Amino acid sequence: MFELPEEHRMLQELVAKFVDRDLIPLEKAALAREAQGQPSGLTPQEEEKVLATCRELGLWGLDVPEEYGGANLPFSALAGVHEEQGRTCAPFTFPPDSPNLHMLIAAANDDQKRKYLEPYARGEAHSAIAISEPGAGGDPAGMTTRAVKDGGDWVINGRKIWVSRVPQADFVIVMARTGEGKRAEGVTAFIVERGTKGFIIEREIPMIGGQRTYELVFEDCRLPASQLLGIEGKGYAPMQLRLTVRRLQIGAWSIGMSRRALDMMVEHTKQRVTFGQRLADRQAIQWWIADAAVKIHACRLMVYDAAAKADAGKDVRMEASMVKLYGTEMATEVIDHAMQSFGAMGVAKELPLQLMAQKVRTMRVYEGPSEVHRMAIARRIIGR
Ligand SMILES: Cc1cc2nc3c(=O)[nH]c(=O)nc-3n(C[C@H](O)[C@H](O)[C@H](O)COP(=O)(O)OP(=O)(O)OC[C@H]3O[C@@H](n4cnc5c(N)ncnc54)[C@H](O)[C@@H]3O)c2cc1C
Repeated sequence: MFELPEEHRMLQELVAKFVDRDLIPLEKAALAREAQGQPSGLTPQEEEKVLATCRELGLWGLDVPEEYGGANLPFSALAGVHEEQGRTCAPFTFPPDSPNLHMLIAAANDDQKRKYLEPYARGEAHSAIAISEPGAGGDPAGMTTRAVKDGGDWVINGRKIWVSRVPQADFVIVMARTGEGKRAEGVTAFIVERGTKGFIIEREIPMIGGQRTYELVFEDCRLPASQLLGIEGKGYAPMQLRLTVRRLQIGAWSIGMSRRALDMMVEHTKQRVTFGQRLADRQAIQWWIADAAVKIHACRLMVYDAAAKADAGKDVRMEASMVKLYGTEMATEVIDHAMQSFGAMGVAKELPLQLMAQKVRTMRVYEGPSEVHRMAIARRIIGR
Protein backbone atom coordinates (compact mmCIF):
# COMPACT_ATOMS: atom_id res chain seq x y z
CA MET A 1 0.00 0.00 0.00
CA PHE A 2 1.31 3.43 -0.95
CA GLU A 3 1.03 5.99 1.84
CA LEU A 4 2.62 9.37 2.43
CA PRO A 5 4.53 9.95 5.69
CA GLU A 6 2.39 11.56 8.40
CA GLU A 7 4.18 14.94 8.23
CA HIS A 8 3.70 15.19 4.46
CA ARG A 9 0.00 14.40 4.85
CA MET A 10 -0.32 17.10 7.52
CA LEU A 11 1.39 19.62 5.24
CA GLN A 12 -0.99 18.71 2.41
CA GLU A 13 -3.99 19.17 4.73
CA LEU A 14 -2.68 22.57 5.80
CA VAL A 15 -2.29 23.67 2.18
CA ALA A 16 -5.76 22.31 1.35
CA LYS A 17 -7.24 24.54 4.08
CA PHE A 18 -5.19 27.52 2.87
CA VAL A 19 -6.43 26.98 -0.70
CA ASP A 20 -10.08 26.69 0.42
CA ARG A 21 -9.96 29.64 2.83
CA ASP A 22 -7.51 32.08 1.21
CA LEU A 23 -7.23 31.37 -2.52
CA ILE A 24 -10.58 30.05 -3.80
CA PRO A 25 -12.42 33.19 -2.55
CA LEU A 26 -10.12 35.25 -4.83
CA GLU A 27 -11.23 33.39 -7.95
CA LYS A 28 -14.32 35.49 -8.61
CA ALA A 29 -12.27 38.69 -8.98
CA ALA A 30 -9.57 36.92 -11.05
CA LEU A 31 -12.27 35.53 -13.37
CA ALA A 32 -13.82 38.98 -13.75
CA ARG A 33 -10.44 40.53 -14.61
CA GLU A 34 -9.76 37.87 -17.23
CA ALA A 35 -13.28 38.29 -18.68
CA GLN A 36 -12.49 41.99 -19.20
CA GLY A 37 -9.25 41.16 -21.03
CA GLN A 38 -7.02 42.13 -18.10
CA PRO A 39 -4.28 39.99 -16.55
CA SER A 40 -5.92 37.49 -14.19
CA GLY A 41 -3.06 37.69 -11.63
CA LEU A 42 -3.72 38.74 -8.04
CA THR A 43 -3.75 42.46 -7.30
CA PRO A 44 -0.87 43.74 -5.09
CA GLN A 45 -3.34 44.07 -2.17
CA GLU A 46 -4.65 40.52 -2.61
CA GLU A 47 -1.12 39.16 -2.95
CA GLU A 48 0.14 40.98 0.13
CA LYS A 49 -2.64 39.52 2.25
CA VAL A 50 -2.13 35.99 0.94
CA LEU A 51 1.64 36.21 1.43
CA ALA A 52 1.15 37.36 5.03
CA THR A 53 -1.02 34.29 5.65
CA CYS A 54 1.62 32.08 4.03
CA ARG A 55 4.20 33.45 6.45
CA GLU A 56 1.92 32.86 9.45
CA LEU A 57 1.29 29.27 8.36
CA GLY A 58 4.96 28.58 7.60
CA LEU A 59 4.17 28.02 3.91
CA TRP A 60 7.33 29.81 2.85
CA GLY A 61 10.66 28.62 1.51
CA LEU A 62 9.31 25.08 1.44
CA ASP A 63 12.13 23.64 -0.68
CA VAL A 64 14.76 26.19 0.35
CA PRO A 65 17.79 24.55 2.05
CA GLU A 66 17.98 25.08 5.82
CA GLU A 67 21.20 27.11 5.51
CA TYR A 68 19.14 29.75 3.69
CA GLY A 69 16.34 29.67 6.23
CA GLY A 70 13.98 27.25 4.48
CA ALA A 71 12.24 23.99 5.33
CA ASN A 72 14.30 21.93 2.86
CA LEU A 73 11.33 19.72 2.01
CA PRO A 74 11.77 16.89 -0.49
CA PHE A 75 9.94 16.71 -3.83
CA SER A 76 7.60 14.07 -2.40
CA ALA A 77 6.36 16.56 0.23
CA LEU A 78 5.97 19.30 -2.38
CA ALA A 79 3.87 17.05 -4.62
CA GLY A 80 0.98 17.26 -2.13
CA VAL A 81 1.43 21.04 -1.81
CA HIS A 82 1.22 21.52 -5.59
CA GLU A 83 -1.67 19.10 -5.94
CA GLU A 84 -3.75 21.20 -3.54
CA GLN A 85 -2.62 24.44 -5.17
CA GLY A 86 -3.77 23.09 -8.55
CA ARG A 87 -7.37 23.01 -7.28
CA THR A 88 -7.67 26.78 -7.63
CA CYS A 89 -7.44 28.98 -10.69
CA ALA A 90 -6.45 31.96 -8.48
CA PRO A 91 -2.91 32.63 -9.75
CA PHE A 92 -0.44 32.29 -6.90
CA THR A 93 3.13 31.04 -6.36
CA PHE A 94 4.46 29.87 -3.01
CA PRO A 95 7.61 31.97 -2.52
CA PRO A 96 10.16 31.46 -3.86
CA ASP A 97 9.25 29.92 -7.22
CA SER A 98 11.05 26.55 -7.18
CA PRO A 99 12.64 26.06 -10.64
CA ASN A 100 15.07 28.99 -10.58
CA LEU A 101 15.77 28.28 -6.91
CA HIS A 102 17.08 24.83 -7.84
CA MET A 103 19.06 26.22 -10.78
CA LEU A 104 20.73 28.80 -8.52
CA ILE A 105 21.51 26.20 -5.84
CA ALA A 106 23.11 24.00 -8.51
CA ALA A 107 25.07 26.66 -10.38
CA ALA A 108 25.66 29.84 -8.34
CA ASN A 109 29.06 30.58 -6.80
CA ASP A 110 29.39 31.91 -3.24
CA ASP A 111 29.13 35.59 -4.25
CA GLN A 112 26.08 34.91 -6.44
CA LYS A 113 24.50 32.91 -3.62
CA ARG A 114 24.86 35.90 -1.32
CA LYS A 115 23.69 38.43 -3.90
CA TYR A 116 20.91 36.53 -5.69
CA LEU A 117 20.07 33.20 -4.06
CA GLU A 118 19.70 34.46 -0.49
CA PRO A 119 17.18 37.27 -1.21
CA TYR A 120 15.43 34.97 -3.70
CA ALA A 121 15.19 32.22 -1.09
CA ARG A 122 13.70 34.71 1.39
CA GLY A 123 11.07 35.63 -1.22
CA GLU A 124 12.40 39.20 -1.42
CA ALA A 125 13.78 38.98 -4.97
CA HIS A 126 12.01 37.65 -8.05
CA SER A 127 13.39 36.18 -11.24
CA ALA A 128 12.53 34.97 -14.74
CA ILE A 129 14.26 32.65 -17.18
CA ALA A 130 14.84 33.45 -20.86
CA ILE A 131 15.47 30.32 -22.93
CA SER A 132 13.02 30.44 -25.87
CA GLU A 133 13.69 32.44 -29.01
CA PRO A 134 11.60 33.22 -32.08
CA GLY A 135 13.53 30.51 -33.98
CA ALA A 136 14.02 28.00 -31.13
CA GLY A 137 11.47 27.11 -28.44
CA GLY A 138 10.57 23.42 -28.26
CA ASP A 139 14.14 22.80 -29.48
CA PRO A 140 16.06 25.23 -27.26
CA ALA A 141 19.43 23.76 -28.28
CA GLY A 142 18.88 25.65 -31.54
CA MET A 143 19.18 29.01 -29.75
CA THR A 144 21.27 31.69 -31.45
CA THR A 145 21.51 34.43 -28.80
CA ARG A 146 25.23 34.82 -28.37
CA ALA A 147 27.50 36.04 -25.60
CA VAL A 148 31.00 37.05 -26.64
CA LYS A 149 33.97 37.77 -24.35
CA ASP A 150 35.29 41.32 -24.52
CA GLY A 151 38.22 41.87 -22.17
CA GLY A 152 36.90 40.86 -18.77
CA ASP A 153 33.25 41.34 -19.81
CA TRP A 154 30.61 39.40 -21.72
CA VAL A 155 28.50 41.10 -24.41
CA ILE A 156 25.12 39.52 -25.22
CA ASN A 157 23.23 40.02 -28.48
CA GLY A 158 19.99 38.28 -29.40
CA ARG A 159 16.27 38.01 -28.85
CA LYS A 160 14.19 35.96 -26.40
CA ILE A 161 10.44 35.42 -26.47
CA TRP A 162 7.52 34.05 -24.41
CA VAL A 163 9.33 34.86 -21.15
CA SER A 164 7.03 34.79 -18.09
CA ARG A 165 7.25 36.77 -14.85
CA VAL A 166 9.27 39.61 -16.40
CA PRO A 167 7.62 42.70 -14.78
CA GLN A 168 8.32 41.54 -11.24
CA ALA A 169 11.77 40.06 -12.01
CA ASP A 170 14.76 41.69 -10.29
CA PHE A 171 16.98 39.52 -12.48
CA VAL A 172 16.59 37.26 -15.49
CA ILE A 173 18.59 34.09 -16.09
CA VAL A 174 19.47 34.34 -19.78
CA MET A 175 20.69 31.34 -21.75
CA ALA A 176 23.14 32.23 -24.53
CA ARG A 177 25.53 30.50 -26.85
CA THR A 178 29.23 30.96 -26.06
CA GLY A 179 32.14 29.37 -27.91
CA GLU A 180 31.84 27.11 -30.92
CA GLY A 181 30.03 24.11 -29.39
CA LYS A 182 26.96 22.87 -31.25
CA ARG A 183 23.45 22.30 -29.87
CA ALA A 184 23.50 21.90 -26.06
CA GLU A 185 27.28 22.17 -25.97
CA GLY A 186 28.42 25.74 -25.54
CA VAL A 187 25.23 27.12 -23.95
CA THR A 188 25.96 29.31 -20.92
CA ALA A 189 23.68 30.89 -18.28
CA PHE A 190 24.02 34.55 -17.28
CA ILE A 191 22.33 36.59 -14.58
CA VAL A 192 21.07 39.86 -16.06
CA GLU A 193 19.74 42.40 -13.60
CA ARG A 194 16.74 44.55 -14.39
CA GLY A 195 17.92 47.92 -15.76
CA THR A 196 21.17 46.58 -17.26
CA LYS A 197 22.03 48.67 -20.32
CA GLY A 198 21.15 46.82 -23.53
CA PHE A 199 18.51 44.61 -21.83
CA ILE A 200 15.27 45.75 -23.47
CA ILE A 201 11.74 44.57 -22.70
CA GLU A 202 10.47 44.87 -26.26
CA ARG A 203 6.79 44.00 -25.81
CA GLU A 204 4.18 42.35 -23.65
CA ILE A 205 2.28 39.47 -25.28
CA PRO A 206 -1.18 38.67 -23.87
CA MET A 207 -1.74 34.91 -23.72
CA ILE A 208 -4.94 32.96 -23.08
CA GLY A 209 -5.92 32.46 -19.44
CA GLY A 210 -5.14 36.08 -18.53
CA GLN A 211 -1.42 35.31 -18.68
CA ARG A 212 1.29 37.57 -20.07
CA THR A 213 4.67 36.76 -21.60
CA TYR A 214 7.39 39.11 -22.88
CA GLU A 215 9.74 39.49 -25.80
CA LEU A 216 13.22 40.60 -24.75
CA VAL A 217 16.03 42.04 -26.82
CA PHE A 218 19.71 42.03 -25.86
CA GLU A 219 21.59 44.72 -27.73
CA ASP A 220 25.27 44.86 -26.87
CA CYS A 221 24.23 44.02 -23.33
CA ARG A 222 27.51 44.18 -21.42
CA LEU A 223 27.95 42.11 -18.26
CA PRO A 224 30.92 41.77 -15.93
CA ALA A 225 32.38 38.25 -15.67
CA SER A 226 30.70 37.94 -12.26
CA GLN A 227 27.30 37.52 -14.03
CA LEU A 228 28.19 34.18 -15.61
CA LEU A 229 26.14 31.53 -13.77
CA GLY A 230 27.81 28.14 -13.40
CA ILE A 231 30.40 26.84 -15.83
CA GLU A 232 31.04 28.46 -19.22
CA GLY A 233 29.55 26.32 -21.98
CA LYS A 234 27.86 23.97 -19.47
CA GLY A 235 24.63 25.84 -18.77
CA TYR A 236 22.39 23.18 -20.23
CA ALA A 237 22.51 20.74 -17.30
CA PRO A 238 21.36 23.20 -14.58
CA MET A 239 18.75 24.51 -17.04
CA GLN A 240 17.48 20.95 -17.54
CA LEU A 241 17.34 20.48 -13.77
CA ARG A 242 15.20 23.59 -13.52
CA LEU A 243 12.86 22.33 -16.27
CA THR A 244 12.57 18.99 -14.47
CA VAL A 245 11.52 20.72 -11.24
CA ARG A 246 8.75 22.61 -13.07
CA ARG A 247 7.61 19.48 -14.92
CA LEU A 248 7.13 17.59 -11.64
CA GLN A 249 5.22 20.58 -10.32
CA ILE A 250 3.03 20.67 -13.46
CA GLY A 251 2.20 16.97 -12.96
CA ALA A 252 1.02 17.68 -9.41
CA TRP A 253 -0.91 20.83 -10.45
CA SER A 254 -2.67 18.73 -13.10
CA ILE A 255 -3.93 16.34 -10.41
CA GLY A 256 -5.38 19.24 -8.41
CA MET A 257 -6.99 20.80 -11.48
CA SER A 258 -8.54 17.47 -12.45
CA ARG A 259 -9.79 16.84 -8.91
CA ARG A 260 -11.53 20.21 -8.83
CA ALA A 261 -13.13 19.58 -12.23
CA LEU A 262 -14.22 16.10 -11.19
CA ASP A 263 -15.72 17.40 -7.91
CA MET A 264 -17.64 20.08 -9.79
CA MET A 265 -18.85 17.58 -12.39
CA VAL A 266 -20.07 15.13 -9.72
CA GLU A 267 -21.86 17.80 -7.69
CA HIS A 268 -23.57 19.21 -10.77
CA THR A 269 -24.58 15.95 -12.45
CA LYS A 270 -26.10 14.62 -9.21
CA GLN A 271 -28.64 17.42 -9.19
CA ARG A 272 -29.20 18.28 -12.87
CA VAL A 273 -32.16 16.44 -14.41
CA THR A 274 -32.67 16.16 -18.20
CA PHE A 275 -35.26 13.97 -19.94
CA GLY A 276 -36.60 12.93 -16.51
CA GLN A 277 -33.29 11.52 -15.22
CA ARG A 278 -30.26 12.82 -13.32
CA LEU A 279 -27.20 13.34 -15.49
CA ALA A 280 -25.27 11.27 -12.93
CA ASP A 281 -27.43 8.25 -13.83
CA ARG A 282 -26.42 8.37 -17.51
CA GLN A 283 -23.71 5.97 -18.60
CA ALA A 284 -22.00 8.61 -20.78
CA ILE A 285 -21.49 10.81 -17.72
CA GLN A 286 -20.51 7.89 -15.45
CA TRP A 287 -17.74 6.96 -17.87
CA TRP A 288 -16.37 10.51 -17.71
CA ILE A 289 -16.42 10.29 -13.92
CA ALA A 290 -14.85 6.82 -13.81
CA ASP A 291 -12.14 7.68 -16.36
CA ALA A 292 -11.28 10.87 -14.48
CA ALA A 293 -10.95 9.00 -11.18
CA VAL A 294 -8.76 6.28 -12.76
CA LYS A 295 -6.46 8.81 -14.45
CA ILE A 296 -6.12 11.00 -11.36
CA HIS A 297 -5.11 7.91 -9.37
CA ALA A 298 -2.60 6.87 -12.04
CA CYS A 299 -1.14 10.36 -12.34
CA ARG A 300 -0.73 10.70 -8.56
CA LEU A 301 1.21 7.43 -8.44
CA MET A 302 3.38 8.63 -11.35
CA VAL A 303 4.09 11.95 -9.64
CA TYR A 304 5.01 10.32 -6.31
CA ASP A 305 7.20 7.76 -8.07
CA ALA A 306 9.05 10.54 -9.94
CA ALA A 307 9.33 12.64 -6.77
CA ALA A 308 10.69 9.72 -4.70
CA LYS A 309 13.29 8.97 -7.38
CA ALA A 310 14.28 12.66 -7.55
CA ASP A 311 14.59 12.70 -3.73
CA ALA A 312 16.89 9.67 -4.00
CA GLY A 313 19.13 11.67 -6.38
CA LYS A 314 18.19 9.72 -9.52
CA ASP A 315 18.00 11.23 -13.01
CA VAL A 316 14.24 11.69 -13.50
CA ARG A 317 14.19 13.51 -16.86
CA MET A 318 12.23 10.60 -18.38
CA GLU A 319 9.73 10.46 -15.49
CA ALA A 320 9.37 14.25 -15.52
CA SER A 321 8.51 14.12 -19.24
CA MET A 322 5.97 11.39 -18.53
CA VAL A 323 4.19 13.20 -15.68
CA LYS A 324 4.17 16.51 -17.57
CA LEU A 325 2.72 14.85 -20.68
CA TYR A 326 0.23 12.59 -18.91
CA GLY A 327 -0.86 15.16 -16.31
CA THR A 328 -1.60 17.99 -18.74
CA GLU A 329 -3.40 15.73 -21.21
CA MET A 330 -5.44 14.20 -18.37
CA ALA A 331 -6.39 17.62 -17.01
CA THR A 332 -7.34 18.81 -20.52
CA GLU A 333 -9.76 15.89 -20.88
CA VAL A 334 -11.23 15.96 -17.37
CA ILE A 335 -11.80 19.73 -17.42
CA ASP A 336 -13.36 19.50 -20.87
CA HIS A 337 -15.78 16.77 -19.74
CA ALA A 338 -16.68 18.80 -16.66
CA MET A 339 -17.36 21.85 -18.84
CA GLN A 340 -19.53 19.76 -21.17
CA SER A 341 -21.53 18.38 -18.23
CA PHE A 342 -22.41 21.97 -17.22
CA GLY A 343 -23.75 22.83 -20.69
CA ALA A 344 -23.79 26.60 -21.33
CA MET A 345 -22.68 27.35 -17.75
CA GLY A 346 -19.53 25.29 -18.45
CA VAL A 347 -18.39 27.77 -21.08
CA ALA A 348 -19.49 30.86 -19.16
CA LYS A 349 -16.73 33.17 -17.94
CA GLU A 350 -18.20 32.94 -14.42
CA LEU A 351 -17.00 29.41 -13.69
CA PRO A 352 -13.37 28.56 -12.93
CA LEU A 353 -13.52 25.61 -15.35
CA GLN A 354 -12.97 27.70 -18.48
CA LEU A 355 -10.01 29.55 -16.91
CA MET A 356 -8.53 26.21 -15.84
CA ALA A 357 -9.04 24.93 -19.41
CA GLN A 358 -7.17 27.93 -20.80
CA LYS A 359 -4.35 27.47 -18.30
CA VAL A 360 -3.89 23.79 -18.99
CA ARG A 361 -3.92 24.61 -22.70
CA THR A 362 -0.81 26.76 -22.17
CA MET A 363 0.69 24.06 -19.93
CA ARG A 364 0.66 21.67 -22.91
CA VAL A 365 3.07 24.07 -24.64
CA TYR A 366 5.38 25.55 -22.00
CA GLU A 367 8.18 23.52 -20.43
CA GLY A 368 8.13 21.55 -23.68
CA PRO A 369 5.14 20.73 -25.90
CA SER A 370 3.50 17.28 -25.48
CA GLU A 371 4.88 16.11 -28.83
CA VAL A 372 8.45 16.97 -27.84
CA HIS A 373 8.04 15.00 -24.58
CA ARG A 374 6.67 12.04 -26.56
CA MET A 375 9.72 12.29 -28.81
CA ALA A 376 12.09 12.45 -25.81
CA ILE A 377 10.42 9.46 -24.11
CA ALA A 378 10.43 7.39 -27.30
CA ARG A 379 14.06 8.24 -28.07
CA ARG A 380 15.14 7.06 -24.63
CA ILE A 381 13.22 3.79 -25.03
CA ILE A 382 14.42 3.16 -28.60
CA GLY A 383 17.99 4.07 -27.63
CA ARG A 384 18.16 1.54 -24.78
C1 LIG B 1 2.34 30.61 -21.15
C2 LIG B 1 3.75 30.37 -21.60
C3 LIG B 1 4.81 30.73 -20.78
C4 LIG B 1 6.12 30.56 -21.21
N1 LIG B 1 7.15 30.98 -20.39
C5 LIG B 1 8.43 30.88 -20.84
C6 LIG B 1 9.51 31.38 -20.05
O1 LIG B 1 9.32 31.90 -18.94
N2 LIG B 1 10.78 31.32 -20.56
C7 LIG B 1 11.04 30.76 -21.78
O2 LIG B 1 12.19 30.71 -22.17
N3 LIG B 1 10.04 30.26 -22.54
C8 LIG B 1 8.75 30.30 -22.11
N4 LIG B 1 7.70 29.81 -22.87
C9 LIG B 1 8.02 29.25 -24.19
C10 LIG B 1 7.83 27.75 -24.29
O3 LIG B 1 8.81 27.06 -23.55
C11 LIG B 1 7.86 27.41 -25.79
O4 LIG B 1 6.75 28.04 -26.38
C12 LIG B 1 7.79 25.93 -26.04
O5 LIG B 1 8.99 25.29 -25.65
C13 LIG B 1 7.50 25.64 -27.53
O6 LIG B 1 8.36 26.37 -28.34
P1 LIG B 1 7.76 27.15 -29.61
O7 LIG B 1 6.66 28.01 -29.16
O8 LIG B 1 8.89 27.78 -30.33
O9 LIG B 1 7.12 26.01 -30.52
P2 LIG B 1 7.89 25.11 -31.59
O10 LIG B 1 9.15 24.58 -31.03
O11 LIG B 1 7.93 25.84 -32.88
O12 LIG B 1 6.84 23.93 -31.74
C14 LIG B 1 5.53 24.18 -32.28
C15 LIG B 1 4.75 22.89 -32.25
O13 LIG B 1 5.35 21.96 -33.12
C16 LIG B 1 5.20 20.66 -32.62
N5 LIG B 1 6.53 20.05 -32.49
C17 LIG B 1 7.69 20.66 -32.15
N6 LIG B 1 8.70 19.77 -32.11
C18 LIG B 1 8.16 18.57 -32.46
C19 LIG B 1 8.66 17.25 -32.60
N7 LIG B 1 9.96 16.98 -32.36
N8 LIG B 1 7.81 16.26 -32.93
C20 LIG B 1 6.51 16.52 -33.19
N9 LIG B 1 5.96 17.76 -33.05
C21 LIG B 1 6.77 18.75 -32.70
C22 LIG B 1 4.49 20.77 -31.29
O14 LIG B 1 3.12 20.53 -31.46
C23 LIG B 1 4.71 22.22 -30.88
O15 LIG B 1 3.68 22.73 -30.05
C24 LIG B 1 6.39 29.97 -22.47
C25 LIG B 1 5.32 29.58 -23.28
C26 LIG B 1 4.01 29.78 -22.87
C27 LIG B 1 2.90 29.35 -23.76
